[in-house]
Amino acid sequence: MNQFQYIRPSEASGAIKSLAKDPVNAYYLAGGTNLIDMMKMGLVVPNKLVDITNLPLKSIDKTPTGVKIGALATNTDVAESSLIKTNFPLLSLAINAGASPQLRNMATVGGNMMQRTRCPYFFDTAMPCNKRVPGSGCGAIAGYNRMHALFGASDSCIAVNPSDMNVALTALDATVHISGAKGARTIKFADFHRLPGDHPELDNTLKKGELITAIDLPSSPFTKNIHYLKIRDRTSYAFALVSVAAALNIQGNTIHDVRLAMGGVAHKPWRLSSAETFLKGKPVNEETFKQAAQIAMQGAKAYEYNKFKLKLAPNAIIQALKIASGLVPA
Ligand code: SF4
Repeated sequence: MNQFQYIRPSEASGAIKSLAKDPVNAYYLAGGTNLIDMMKMGLVVPNKLVDITNLPLKSIDKTPTGVKIGALATNTDVAESSLIKTNFPLLSLAINAGASPQLRNMATVGGNMMQRTRCPYFFDTAMPCNKRVPGSGCGAIAGYNRMHALFGASDSCIAVNPSDMNVALTALDATVHISGAKGARTIKFADFHRLPGDHPELDNTLKKGELITAIDLPSSPFTKNIHYLKIRDRTSYAFALVSVAAALNIQGNTIHDVRLAMGGVAHKPWRLSSAETFLKGKPVNEETFKQAAQIAMQGAKAYEYNKFKLKLAPNAIIQALKIASGLVPA
């Protein structure tokens, strides 16, 4: 491993200042569950690590408009928080569907948002990968692309975002608080991650040196009819082939409001806005859910080895909606 400088400031302003001095090769270090792996594999070669685990960004607090989650709250802290379990059970379900208990104990909210794709070619330094080395090509497009995207891919990259938490936060209309050398700003969670376009090396819209400080979740009526369905190759410690976050507000037998998002199908968590619009005001039944799934799949494009997702994804949407609505048990 190369030598690097390690510092551990106790204030966000100090961390930001320290990273700003070397914006190219310095990295924030939180739980380290992704960054340290990448360092060991030689994918990331920092000359400075700014350890942010001492910063006061770990609390989960009720606010007048909802709940604020500090960026350094661990995945376990969030998933097991009574505030979150009571008010945003979809987020608890999604987080607990990811990784392993040991990893969730270490991984932070901000780190989960920043985790990189699990495309196998990204991790294989013998293979071309535009995300790892811009301009080198994409090993996955003509390769073994079983885990890859159905939506929003480009000729440069067809990778997917691996996070479960991100899918729920997209569905729940979260907001991201960011601080940087030029001040603080907020962006919608749905705008945080980006599609690959011509720059797949950029996973998100964070500017170099900016620090995620918190997530705001607006108060939500989605506390009862919710489900996070994750389809994967084994039942634990595996990334999603396809996942669906479904939240319904049902009055009588009518869908009053709905949130739907998918994971494992795009470079960013994939909100199913057209299907949401269709579902509002419709009766709760399987036919409604089948039509919504059909709408959600419009524009999907598969590759050689992930064609099975064209069937798996709509079936997952239908099943998630059936479970969330109580038509079938979980
Ligand atoms: Fe790299 Fe993206 Fe292609 Fe995977 S899909 S090899 S991450 S460019």
